[in-house]
Amino acid sequence: MNQNIAVVGAGICGLCTGLALAAKGNLVTLYERDIEPPEGGADQAFFGWKRRGAAQFRHPHAFLGVMCNMLEKNYPDLIELFWEAGARKLSFSDMLPPELLLQYEPEPSDDDMWMLMCRRATMETVLRRYVEGTHNVTINNTTNVVGMTTVEKREGITVTGLEVQIDRGEIEQVSHDIIVDASGRGTKFPEWLDALGSGVTTEDDDADIVYYTRHYQINPGEQEPSRHSKERSAGDLGYMKYGVFPGDNGHFAVIICLPNHETELREAIKDPDQFDDICNAIPGLKPWVSPSKSTPTTSSFGFGDIHAIWRHFVNDGIPVALNFFAVGDSAVRTNPLYGRGCSTGTIHAHLLARILDESSDPVERALRFDEETENELRPIFIASLNEDKQGIKRAKAILEGKDVENTGSFKQWLRAAFGDAIGSAAREQVHVLRGAMRTFNLMEKPGDFLKDSRIRWTILRYMLRGRAKNNRARFQRGPRRMEMLAIAQQSNSQAAA
Ligand SMILES: Cc1cc2nc3c(=O)[nH]c(=O)nc-3n(C[C@H](O)[C@H](O)[C@H](O)COP(=O)(O)OP(=O)(O)OC[C@H]3O[C@@H](n4cnc5c(N)ncnc54)[C@H](O)[C@@H]3O)c2cc1C
Repeated sequence: MNQNIAVVGAGICGLCTGLALAAKGNLVTLYERDIEPPEGGADQAFFGWKRRGAAQFRHPHAFLGVMCNMLEKNYPDLIELFWEAGARKLSFSDMLPPELLLQYEPEPSDDDMWMLMCRRATMETVLRRYVEGTHNVTINNTTNVVGMTTVEKREGITVTGLEVQIDRGEIEQVSHDIIVDASGRGTKFPEWLDALGSGVTTEDDDADIVYYTRHYQINPGEQEPSRHSKERSAGDLGYMKYGVFPGDNGHFAVIICLPNHETELREAIKDPDQFDDICNAIPGLKPWVSPSKSTPTTSSFGFGDIHAIWRHFVNDGIPVALNFFAVGDSAVRTNPLYGRGCSTGTIHAHLLARILDESSDPVERALRFDEETENELRPIFIASLNEDKQGIKRAKAILEGKDVENTGSFKQWLRAAFGDAIGSAAREQVHVLRGAMRTFNLMEKPGDFLKDSRIRWTILRYMLRGRAKNNRARFQRGPRRMEMLAIAQQSNSQAAA
């Protein structure tokens, strides 16, 4: 069963795919167009690695429970390497708001609900060095995949290899039994398949937001602000979402997410000083970014063109190509605001390794991979898409000065009231928070916790106490839109003076 498999791209999902396939006894070659990480630790990787192939490399990444558990279960020695590199563990009890700490009684399943906190540069470097040391896996750096080779068989187009260009040299052909596309959001494979007349169909929804980041480091002798404070370090002001991502070695990042139409705020936030002024106006961010607590280590920078993408590689029961599989962002992408991409990519990688191990028939493999991807990832994709659509509606209503709480049909109102009741109950009841966090960490299908009758009764009780009381849990303290625009204008004129 051992096969000679090529993985295109050594990003997070490509590396996980390499590990999962090698663990099943396959011979794996990863082709990566970027250079390898520089010598040294997490800071060298973050500040020094020319990582052009993954534009999101310096944006903060959350690594959710499902991914952490998969890595820990399959590669326990890898987890130790993260701790050595300065990464930290955020457990369920660390995530409890102050109101819940007193009533908290641990349950065994809480142990699974942990997140790895480190910069993406740290995650990628540690994972990559571990993969480099794995028997059966080779990583070819500065190797750009520029095409694929195929043959036409009775069962359909069959991929037989790749066209690669090392260090911009001559194009060479390499043969492999199987090709896995892990080349991320900019994948060229759908284009190449289209050119062969084998169309990949794509669902594409614009999330209509821009995502901004700035990195900081805690000052010597200072501690991170308490995570159990009343002012939450992540929240939604309606027209703006924000969050702190604690990382490794005293580093953390702040993200601010704005709808595309907030042109004035978007312009302001590109300026690092104005970014800080805006953060200082938000009570949940101020304790982190105040100059006595931390020092910025980068400018502020953005990421736009955020889409939810689902690519179909089987049309009407017929695979577009055999011996070809797409994993991670090249197949499924969700809004980075939910921090799900690396986790869904890790699930996808392990799913592929299992299917290739269990079946040897090319058609059966393609159909099973398609079906199991639908079963595992589709509910997460749909939940993310629905959240995007609600966010777009709410931001539009705020822009138009409408009453955000009471727009739309009765059905929409009821759905929003239900959401508020869950949010409010999760702030005050550990069992509801535990359920919601299982969904957040992708430990179960989205919303599965609502099947629990105790949780359902609690939420009903919260619904009955009225929406006005519940929606306070959703919005955090912070300036209203017009106030924030005034802060941005003042900050702008100070910068100009
Ligand atoms: C702003 C932002 C924030 C995010 N935050 C989070 C988060 O908090 N948590 C989370 O889980 N996810 C997050 N994501 C999503 C996450 O970054 C992706 O889901 C994840 O990186 C996908 O992994 P991948 O391996 O599929 O692709 P990538 O990590 O993008 O890797 C693709 C690799 O392929 C290489 N490559 C591309 N083309 C070729 C070629 N032709 N030849 C050779 N090599 C090639 C690239 O150089 C790159 O190394 C975020 C995304 C963005 C945009």
